[in-house]
Amino acid sequence: MSQHINVFEMAQSQLRATARHLDGLTPGLIDVLAMPMRQLTVNFPVVMDDGSVRVFQGYRVQHNSSRGPTKGGIRYHPEVDIFETSALAMWMTWKCAVANIPYGGAKGSIKLDPKQLSDRELERLTRRYATEINIILGERSDIPAPDVGTNPQTMAWIMDTISMQRGQTSLGVVTGKPIELGGSLGRVEATGRGVVVTAEEACKIMNMKLEGARVAVQGFGNVGSVAAKLIEDMGAKVIAVSDARGGIYRKDGLPIAKELYGRYAGRDGSLADYKDADQITNEDLFGLDCDILIPAALSASITKENAGKVKAKLVVEGANGPLTPDADAILEDKGILVCPDILANAGGVVVSYFEWVQDLQNFFWDEDEVNVKLEKLMRHSFGAVRSTMEQHKTNMRTAAMIIGVKRVAEATMVRGIFP
Ligand code: NAD
Repeated sequence: MSQHINVFEMAQSQLRATARHLDGLTPGLIDVLAMPMRQLTVNFPVVMDDGSVRVFQGYRVQHNSSRGPTKGGIRYHPEVDIFETSALAMWMTWKCAVANIPYGGAKGSIKLDPKQLSDRELERLTRRYATEINIILGERSDIPAPDVGTNPQTMAWIMDTISMQRGQTSLGVVTGKPIELGGSLGRVEATGRGVVVTAEEACKIMNMKLEGARVAVQGFGNVGSVAAKLIEDMGAKVIAVSDARGGIYRKDGLPIAKELYGRYAGRDGSLADYKDADQITNEDLFGLDCDILIPAALSASITKENAGKVKAKLVVEGANGPLTPDADAILEDKGILVCPDILANAGGVVVSYFEWVQDLQNFFWDEDEVNVKLEKLMRHSFGAVRSTMEQHKTNMRTAAMIIGVKRVAEATMVRGIFP
């Protein structure tokens, strides 16, 4: 628990550090931004398959709605709590502001291990949780999406539950839905695509060629596998990928699109079955001689213990918070450019935004249109972060935070404090 209180304190101290770069942020305004505007805790019963009743605890936290309705995923994990959920909601606010999409940040969670429930139990749990938090959800107020432990099916259950209660089909109440139900083409690949566009832009400012660059990717789930496939497609050589059980390495490049993506992507722990490459550990992967490292698995994967051995010239954060603050400082001292999560992995929420726009208009775009708009927005955000780096003489993480906090602070000030 104390560790999670620290995650929220960490988010608050990042905000306070950023505020020092910004003129005109009064202590009162910083206090407004440092706290979530609404935290809902729900304790609710679920009938299990054996007839017994279990009570679960869940949360929905809305951090700030100055720029628009709040937006953020729902996580099912045994270690979530109100502090971690609040920190994640705050980071969503900055991420949406950096991408300049008209949302504030939110996050939801239920404390449980979803692998221990049957599909029928998960459906009952999800429908009851959606009912409990429905009082603060809505397509114009707060729009959930999938996160760790949830998926498009979970979103379909939430959308159906809310639609049943309102007596009308409400496609826009959640994003990350199945395509048959108002989901957007391009959503599944969106985060990985955004990561690769970010890597491409970063290579340009480093005068490094993406073509032929050696890339290592930690995590072969949604973000990591798509990033590996798309960066290979752009001419880079993916020399290593890993999942929860370990990784595989081939100096001359792994056949991502040809063999690995179709067979192993998203199949936790299965890479160990691939025999045409050397087996390595996740720790080995971080120390590989490569040009680009993409951590796309867990938070706090690179710490002060292993940051010293990173040899990549560029790190692009596919995961949320894969570097601890200590690791961040070590990489900076080594001259490694780090593209931060709130910029690099924003592709998912950007295409969630496109999904919501399509749902509200009942007018759906083809996949090319989604991808072109996503890439344009990612490149534009990257350009803004780069100019801010130069203007404030800071690293890329601080520059992204400066943009995010400034946009939210300005919106809050222009709206004024009600009443
Ligand atoms: P996922 O569950 O699809 O994949 C996670 C991958 O990490 C799997 O390959 C898993 O085997 C691997 N993994 C788990 N434990 C590991 C360990 N100890 N060492 C190495 N690998 C390990 O999840 P995802 O959707 O790809 O998300 C990955 C990260 O990206 C998370 O931090 C998530 O919050 C973040 N993110 C995801 C999205 C999205 O749209 N999916 C958007 C923004 C950020």
